[in-house]
Amino acid sequence: TQLSFEVTRREDATSSERIAQVHENPGFGKTFTDHMVVIDWSAADGWTDARVQPYGPFQLDPAAAVLHYAQEIFEGMKAYRHADGSVWTFRPEANAARFARSARRLALPELPEADFIESLRQLVAVDQEWVPAAEGEKSLYLRPFMFASEAFLGVRPAQRVTYSVIASPAGAYFTGGLKPVTLWISTSYARAGAGGTGAAKCGGNYASSLAGQLEGAEHGCDQAVFLDSSTHTYIEELGGMNLFFVTRDRKIVTPELTGTILEGVTRASILELAKELDLEPEERRIRIDEWKEGAASGDIVEIFACGTAAVVTPVGELRWDGGSVDHRRDGHEDTVASAIRSRLLDIQYGRAEDSHGWMTRL
Ligand code: PMP
Repeated sequence: TQLSFEVTRREDATSSERIAQVHENPGFGKTFTDHMVVIDWSAADGWTDARVQPYGPFQLDPAAAVLHYAQEIFEGMKAYRHADGSVWTFRPEANAARFARSARRLALPELPEADFIESLRQLVAVDQEWVPAAEGEKSLYLRPFMFASEAFLGVRPAQRVTYSVIASPAGAYFTGGLKPVTLWISTSYARAGAGGTGAAKCGGNYASSLAGQLEGAEHGCDQAVFLDSSTHTYIEELGGMNLFFVTRDRKIVTPELTGTILEGVTRASILELAKELDLEPEERRIRIDEWKEGAASGDIVEIFACGTAAVVTPVGELRWDGGSVDHRRDGHEDTVASAIRSRLLDIQYGRAEDSHGWMTRL
């Protein structure tokens, strides 16, 4: 049986004028809507007290396990407003399934797919004015998450857990448009290792990616590329995006899933779209030397990163300790990246027929 939600509305709701002001320049992840979803879980009673309540701080015991042992997972997705005013989201079953896989890996309880999707629907229903119009690729970013709230310092799966969803109006993720990003190969830092949590969307992975990102920033790079942590030979992904390479013979290649890479919903969708765009999809291990050589020889014609927040972002130069390479030549155009980007955005904003059945109305 599905959970039913009790709704408590905020009395001093944000004015329409203020919401319109936020929508003018939402940025990313800095303004939050008026409400949030909270559902409690305990080992004794399972999921209880599903509710929509005014947005605000949690009361958290200083001994709450999440603050000590990082038993936490999250998801990231978007609500898109279509031209007729209706609000939709993209492949929420895929996010629900990934959330359940992350939960299993972090020894957290699984929230059934129907409750996960209903929790998004409930929040968007109450905060619907916060979903911006499509212009300028705007959307309402949805952030479901779950953490160990039990006050106990023993190391074992928590017996009290909190699930929540918050929402934040989002504009284009990278300011400055489709400017290619410069990437740094981090060899001193790994994000994930064999048997670890790399394939789970857990906070710890992002904490462990920060030192590599900082190292990249010190070398003038926008993001770090993480390699496999045991041999530093194979390309895995960025801190928050998957990678694709387009070859001269129209193959579109992405690192295969090894258990240390996050299974991106955008990545999976691009693999499915490839054929429509006359590209041959391929998932396999890719050596970092293949990037360096392919960029130098011209065998690699385009490189891009993908994820929910930024959709598709072209990659430019690759830098490492002692060198750099750039696959772009005079007159370079990111034709494949832009075509895929437009195709995805057209489906998400309801401008193209949803032939894959990817959209769910909220
Ligand atoms: N890799 C990592 C590490 C990420 O955090 C994300 C964002 N969720 C992605 C890849 C892209 O995944 P998705 O396409 O599902 O947003």
